[in-house]
Amino acid sequence: MTAGPALLDPPSARRRAGAGLQGLDTTEVERSDRLALMRSGELGSVHSWELVTAVDGPGTRMTVFLAGCPLRCLYCHNPDTLAMKDGGAVLADDLLARVARYRGVFAATDGGLTLSGGEVLMQPAFAARVLRGAQELGVHTCLDTSGFLGANATDAMLDDTDLVLLDVKAGDEETYRRVTGRSLAPTLAFGRRLAERGVGVWVRFVLVPGLTDDPANVARVADHVAAIDAVRPGTVQRVEVLPFHQMARDKWAELGRTYELAGTEPPSPEATEAVREVFRTRGLTTC
Ligand code: SF4
Repeated sequence: MTAGPALLDPPSARRRAGAGLQGLDTTEVERSDRLALMRSGELGSVHSWELVTAVDGPGTRMTVFLAGCPLRCLYCHNPDTLAMKDGGAVLADDLLARVARYRGVFAATDGGLTLSGGEVLMQPAFAARVLRGAQELGVHTCLDTSGFLGANATDAMLDDTDLVLLDVKAGDEETYRRVTGRSLAPTLAFGRRLAERGVGVWVRFVLVPGLTDDPANVARVADHVAAIDAVRPGTVQRVEVLPFHQMARDKWAELGRTYELAGTEPPSPEATEAVREVFRTRGLTTC
């Protein structure tokens, strides 16, 4: 998920530590047991985790990247997480034990746990189990998602989610499909549902020259976000306009996949600021 468009942030805005599945016991269980445990939410397919500051939500966070995603974004920064098999088998209890170790850091920085991906809602039972466990530990929780599988999120799961980082990748169906290969409508429906339930949202929009920067597209994204906020004013706490950059190019090459944006330049600071202004004219807070 998300999908981590934060990985498109300028490196200066980011600080990450930790990597891979370090410290998480990867589980050797029989295939039949594994399926049952995944269905119950006790076991998930996790690509990696990182300790981050100033990205993926407030404060210092443990961001956990779940494997599997139904979208195929042209600018995906984590193309190595798109299949469920790209992750290792991790027990929810082992993950929560790691979360518990950072409680002091989270408390000191107003941080917490962020579930990201890939797409978290490919594994809704596991995500729900981990979010519930984190809440029981008193840890702030974020869900980083495209919203495409929002229907997989139960109300109970949303009640255990303090903040949703919602990627709105385009403003009309045609552009959204070009960017992701999928439909925009489920994301907007999920956004409205979050507003109705009173779950706070940080919207993320990746500005890609020649792909998402058409003024009509930007205006429609801003209109959609304003409409979500209108359901319950204050729902959309901020809009992050993330300038595209080429940090993912090497990953695509390593995977032997065709990277259609190989020749795309990042937007200028002025162009990025102009897009932020479009959101501000709708009364939204940007950064
Ligand atoms: S394909 Fe899109 S939604 Fe999926 S992980 Fe990549 S950027 Fe995120």
